[in-house]
Amino acid sequence: MKTTALITNDQVQKQDLEESEALSLLSSTQSIIKEAIQKLGFSSDMYELLKEPLRILTVRIPVRMDDGSYQIFTGYRSQHNDSVGPTKGGVRFHPEVTEEEVKALSIWMSLKCGITNLPYGGGKGGIICDPRNMSFGELERLSRGYVRAISQIVGPTKDIPAPDVYTNSQIMAWMMDEFSCLREFDSPGFITGKPIVLGGSQGRETATARGVVISIEEAAKKRGIDLQGARIVIQGFGNAGSFLAKFMHETGAKVIGISDAYGALYDPEGLNIDYLLDRRDSFGTVTNLFTNVITNQELLVKECDILVPAAISNQITAQNAHDIKASIVVEAANGPTTLEATKILDERGILLVPDILASAGGVIVSYFEWVQNNQGYYWSEEEVAEKLRKIMVDSFKTIYETSQAHQVDMRLAAYMVGIRKPAEASRFRGWV
Ligand code: GLU
Repeated sequence: MKTTALITNDQVQKQDLEESEALSLLSSTQSIIKEAIQKLGFSSDMYELLKEPLRILTVRIPVRMDDGSYQIFTGYRSQHNDSVGPTKGGVRFHPEVTEEEVKALSIWMSLKCGITNLPYGGGKGGIICDPRNMSFGELERLSRGYVRAISQIVGPTKDIPAPDVYTNSQIMAWMMDEFSCLREFDSPGFITGKPIVLGGSQGRETATARGVVISIEEAAKKRGIDLQGARIVIQGFGNAGSFLAKFMHETGAKVIGISDAYGALYDPEGLNIDYLLDRRDSFGTVTNLFTNVITNQELLVKECDILVPAAISNQITAQNAHDIKASIVVEAANGPTTLEATKILDERGILLVPDILASAGGVIVSYFEWVQNNQGYYWSEEEVAEKLRKIMVDSFKTIYETSQAHQVDMRLAAYMVGIRKPAEASRFRGWV
């Protein structure tokens, strides 16, 4: 009894912590949006409009589990602003999903689409579940149930979902199939990140990592760092982190640190990336095969040239920002650096490429996928890669120049560039 009570208390405390972290993600996003809107000269009404999503739907999804029992899952779909066009953004399956987090993530999608000049507003979805403990059949029933629950507010010209944390092309395929059955016509443009045979795009699976590589290249040029032999630490070995490790290793950089949810590996001489990629499981876990494991927090402050947080939010904080040794930090995860830490890194002269720019490769190629679905004509991998590079390089340049011109850090510059489009579109529509 005593143990059960203890576990329950721990769980309550953990939940409180998650909720307050998500709240702080939302409130820090709002405070930067406020500053960006003021700097751009929009009215305070514009801030009132853009500080929260226009719409958020909470759904309860009953799923029959393999053992015959029923479990009711909670899911969300948040649509931040659809003045520019349909909303767009991924769906995450994670035990720590909260409504506040989904709201903040949908605002970030508006910013990402604004920065990269895509004809979308931001959306995001999430389901509170742990896919690591669910069977294929249970995941399929959950994915289909979610689509049925949100079907009224989504669609190829309304709101277009995509993969995110712990969701993949198989889940997108089930969701697309369910939506097509509901609408009674084939709807590939309802969702992106699909398998190629169902209208997926070449290069979508690796797009986020490719975008991060381009951000690293552009940032390295600004700091005069030669990527040949440059020492890189990557926190996280999921979709973005593992492909990034592979691509950086192939370009001749030295990947000296990686991590998963359970720990980190560090070797100043460089890790055996091919071996690690070969042994990682589908959730990006690999450190369980080793004994010389350090913690994620220890990894972040190791000596290196480029640090890439590619895992979860709130990793670089006021507590460790003074100890970061890298000269460039490129955020491949959503929200890995707190506001206080951003200021500290900026004061220390560390170049920080913010998440809404560095991780935009995924939604850019999702846009290409949707365009290809709409026109029914498919592009080569080279064509996708070339178009992705152009958007990433142009976006980096615009944000870097904005940060120089306004003497602000790269994050505020990215918010200024990102929020301008939904703000102008909302104003033209006469909303405020
Ligand atoms: N979930 C990804 C993101 O956060 C991709 C979204 C998309 O492809 O629409 O950017």
